[in-house]
Amino acid sequence: MTRVLVVGSVNMDLVVEAERYPRLGETLFGKRFASYPGGKGANQAVAAARLGAQVTLLGCVGRDMFGSQLKEALQAEGVDIGRLREAEVATGLATITLAEGDNAIVVVPGANHELLPQHLDQDEQAFRDADVVLAQMEVPLATVERAAELAQRHGKPFLLNPAPAHPLPSSLLERAALLTPNEHELAQALDERGGDWQALMRKLPGRVAMTRGKDGAYFCRADGSLHHQPGFVVSAVDTTGAGDTFNGALAAFWPQGLEAAMALACAAAALSVTRAGAQGGMPTLAALQQMLK
Ligand code: ADP
Repeated sequence: MTRVLVVGSVNMDLVVEAERYPRLGETLFGKRFASYPGGKGANQAVAAARLGAQVTLLGCVGRDMFGSQLKEALQAEGVDIGRLREAEVATGLATITLAEGDNAIVVVPGANHELLPQHLDQDEQAFRDADVVLAQMEVPLATVERAAELAQRHGKPFLLNPAPAHPLPSSLLERAALLTPNEHELAQALDERGGDWQALMRKLPGRVAMTRGKDGAYFCRADGSLHHQPGFVVSAVDTTGAGDTFNGALAAFWPQGLEAAMALACAAAALSVTRAGAQGGMPTLAALQQMLK
């Protein structure tokens, strides 16, 4: 069982469907409302847990209704939330309005921004106990940098999913055992505009696996050659959470070696797009094994 430590965000996604977008100042009746647990940290933690990893999540929620609901949901997935913090600000949330075949999203980080470097220092034991550390960019940059430092101090591979897209300081580029951007995030991470992605990948030989939607994923080997893991052919229903499933799976299967882990991560992510919702579509280990039979 791989012990995965995730350092990242926990959000509630509030999804409203309407016929059309309201004009400024207008009030509309919507068609439907639903709330879903989300946040890249929690999503990737759940993906890894469903695939059989022993997962601990370092994050922060508010002392409010959404915080309680999210903690319950994580616990039900078997994610260890013993070190999850609570702050006196609102739990992170995303309001998502679906209308006219499009979406409009406002994210309020709230408690996610209260996860500070010193909190990770207090939880240093969690880094000692992990086989692999996985982070994203939805908690403060200084916190992600501290996570990378602590992982390095304890000799644990640090996997960084540089999402949402953000230029990365050299401390992170140097410390990450692996970056897992999509094409857009890769350009942003390296602060390069318009370069071709293969050339960008070769700037980080042996340390970048780039996802490319249904085309699958690419890894730049230490010698600069590109390994392509083709995507699995499925009929896609909802691609939300594909990247999160890929990352959680990659961490869970890390001990199998990168190219094997990438194949399993692409298979798990393909399964995830066949069902609605981010966490809703994430496969169990049994479902993944069934697909690969
Ligand atoms: P993100 O959502 O972060 O941009 P991608 O769209 O690149 O991430 O998807 C992550 C992974 O999910 C891909 O590497 C691929 O393995 C899988 N995936 C995404 N979309 C599909 C699809 N339509 N069919 C099969 N696999 C997919």
